[in-house]
Amino acid sequence: MASVLVVEDDPVIRGALIEILTAHGYGVRTASQGFEALREITQCPPDVVVLDLGLPDLDGLDVLRMIRGISRVPVLVATARDDDTEIIKLLNAGADDYMVKPFSGGQLDARLQAVLRRAGPADERARQPVVHVGDLRIDPLARTARLAGRELTLTRREFDLLAYLAANADQVVSRRRILADVWQQPYLEDQTVDVHLSALRRKLGERAARPRYLHTVRGIGIKLVSSV
Ligand code: CA
Repeated sequence: MASVLVVEDDPVIRGALIEILTAHGYGVRTASQGFEALREITQCPPDVVVLDLGLPDLDGLDVLRMIRGISRVPVLVATARDDDTEIIKLLNAGADDYMVKPFSGGQLDARLQAVLRRAGPADERARQPVVHVGDLRIDPLARTARLAGRELTLTRREFDLLAYLAANADQVVSRRRILADVWQQPYLEDQTVDVHLSALRRKLGERAARPRYLHTVRGIGIKLVSSV
């Protein structure tokens, strides 16, 4: 049974959503405010989030961006505004799909199923093996990275970037791809990646001119090289 977190401040709509989702066999939890939703997602991650954009405490788009900062959970946005600009904003901020209010229970169920299918099973997303590359050992669950046994002190983004490159070792990955997958904000400047990359190089004790692990492939992207 997939678990859905419904984020909706209107008690009538919330009640209707609980009823529809329960009838379709989902486990349902609710939050009526943005901060409450973020807390729920951190403490007990659902399989999917249905997010109303008009919340009393935070702008819905900000909530969406904040969710993306902490989680890859699929988010289906319910919006009252059916205009192009709004929808582009939503998708760019990390929504997996959207529905324009009012929508039917059937549509909600179909969209949830599509989003869940694309995301894959939750336990698959959670199962992140320890990655060994050369002298590097990266444990995504414990969020630790060691170089020749010595633990590296990395910021959250540095860790995410290193873990991502290690999981894709020996493949050139474009900065755009990295921004989409690690930052989940593909429209950010390429420089964002470079800033974190140079910090990582410093912590790994290497230089761009003489890299051991982190190679820049000019005009294409970045590659974490596993063998010397
Ligand atoms: Ca609302």
